[in-house]
Amino acid sequence: MTSGHWVLHLDADLDEVERHWAELSDAGMVGAAEVDGRAAVYFTERLEDLAVAGRWEHLAARDWQECWRAGLAPVRAGRWTLTPSWLATGAADELVLDPGQAFGTGHHETTAVCLEALDAIPLEGRTVLDLGTGSGVLAIAAALAGATVTAVDTDPLAVEAATGNAARNGARVTVAHGSVGVVAGRTFDVVVANLDSATLARLAPALREVLASDGTLVASGVGNERSHEVRTALEHVGLEVVATAGDEWTLLRAVRAEL
Ligand code: SAM
Repeated sequence: MTSGHWVLHLDADLDEVERHWAELSDAGMVGAAEVDGRAAVYFTERLEDLAVAGRWEHLAARDWQECWRAGLAPVRAGRWTLTPSWLATGAADELVLDPGQAFGTGHHETTAVCLEALDAIPLEGRTVLDLGTGSGVLAIAAALAGATVTAVDTDPLAVEAATGNAARNGARVTVAHGSVGVVAGRTFDVVVANLDSATLARLAPALREVLASDGTLVASGVGNERSHEVRTALEHVGLEVVATAGDEWTLLRAVRAEL
């Protein structure tokens, strides 16, 4: 076995990696970064038949983590500056993240629009469910805004990352492994779910069940071309939906229709 790591240089930006995040993680991705608009994806070995293609480069043992970290810069989203833990300065608006292998550095548009949507909702003293918490970014922002937050994720690595990041920010977040079933029987003032269209459509009945009667659902991770499908699924279970389309992604806000 060769020592060191392998990096796959893509002719595409980090969006392409984030689109295939689950397959690449399953294949053994240990990190990803964007430099000059091009993504670099890190592995411990060179692999065939990946979901993305590019040019392979071998890195000496000590170089790979440095290279990955070098590509992650602080990014502004909502009222936060999302900052990799190794670049933290202690600024008041800083949300410090060590994403590990979990999704949610804040560089992705679907995360940024959720942070903006959360900013627009009074959260002090409210209850929030972050479904698919990844790095914990949305849960932490909600907790720092004064909410009581429960965060769940089906990926154990995300549970680990979110727990660590909550502690890093002094945010009180209850993190659990699993999906919406983990909180069955409870309701929340705000449910934020940055997932994907198929999962959101499938979980629509459960999402309605966990939404308080005057609660707000914020759903993201929906490509513009599939927003109609998610909207229909949410309306079908009795939610009133407002959709806001960006260049590529649509954010859906929903409340119970009987209000
Ligand atoms: N919330 C973070 C953000 O906004 O950047 C991460 C979002 S990432 C796109 C989606 C996350 O949802 C992943 O961490 C994935 O493991 C998790 N996930 C996927 N399906 C899920 C499900 N059915 N229930 C709970 N979590 C799920």
